Amino acid sequence: MTQREIQKLKETILKEYPRLGKGDKFRFACHSGVSCFNDCCRDVNIFLTPYDVLRLKNALGITSQDFLDKYTILPIDENQKLPVVVLRMRDDEKKTCFFVSDKGCTVYDDRPWACRMYPLGLASPGEISAQLNEEFYFILKESICQGFKEDKEWTVEEWIKDQGIEKYNEFGELYKNIYTHPYLEKAPALTPQKIDMFFLASYNIDKFRDFILKSTFLDKFEIESNLLEKIKTDDEELLKFSFRWLRFALFGENTMIIKDEIKSEAIKRLEEKRKKSN
Ligand code: SF4
Ligand code: SF4
Repeated sequence: MTQREIQKLKETILKEYPRLGKGDKFRFACHSGVSCFNDCCRDVNIFLTPYDVLRLKNALGITSQDFLDKYTILPIDENQKLPVVVLRMRDDEKKTCFFVSDKGCTVYDDRPWACRMYPLGLASPGEISAQLNEEFYFILKESICQGFKEDKEWTVEEWIKDQGIEKYNEFGELYKNIYTHPYLEKAPALTPQKIDMFFLASYNIDKFRDFILKSTFLDKFEIESNLLEKIKTDDEELLKFSFRWLRFALFGENTMIIKDEIKSEAIKRLEEKRKKSN
């Protein structure tokens, strides 16, 4: 899907889709007995969040770099300010998902947010439209999907709980603070260095850990010692930290503490520069 197609879909959702709140009900069930079982796991655009990548690479027991290389594509669109990561489909006739089997999803416990949410969609302010004041849910009805003929009834809230979406939403909120940041609206395109940093810290989490632990990062920034211990082994803590770091590195927010000696050196260099230019 191109940025233009995404924009058109957003406009249709805003204008035409019935808006659901957490207490609203819908009828749906998906199980191996439905005639369309697995049909939706092919030729589908699944945008991955950083937390999706974290869960999937750990479920598969591979590094974030290997996951990104093997299972994702990065579609390029001139209108986008930050890269987006999409789940790669197999190169077969049906373009099937790498993770689908006759019995269903082989990474079910760690399947991406979008796969958990379906048939629900979420429209958030800042993401779908700056004019939207309040988020709402809506139903996405794929024409092939027979799940709507089933009798099981859910409230939106029940579905979110049943599908294990809460944890994904917690990380989704942190991520949203980055990609809907007001800076991106106002500023011209980010520099290639900043885009690389965004990708490293949000998606290539194992390499980001190396960046913190093996570069001069710790000489420059203060990190609380208990947090530093956690991010050495805990990917979720590391990802939370990466969002904090990105707010500093991309948008200049005051989310990191620069060490005093680094600040003094920077001030000294500035003064020397000023003297030379006078
Ligand atoms: S990750 Fe699982 S649920 Fe999602 S498309 Fe692939 S097989 Fe289907
Ligand atoms: S098309 Fe709908 S009912 Fe069929 S497997 Fe996919 S989600 Fe389930």
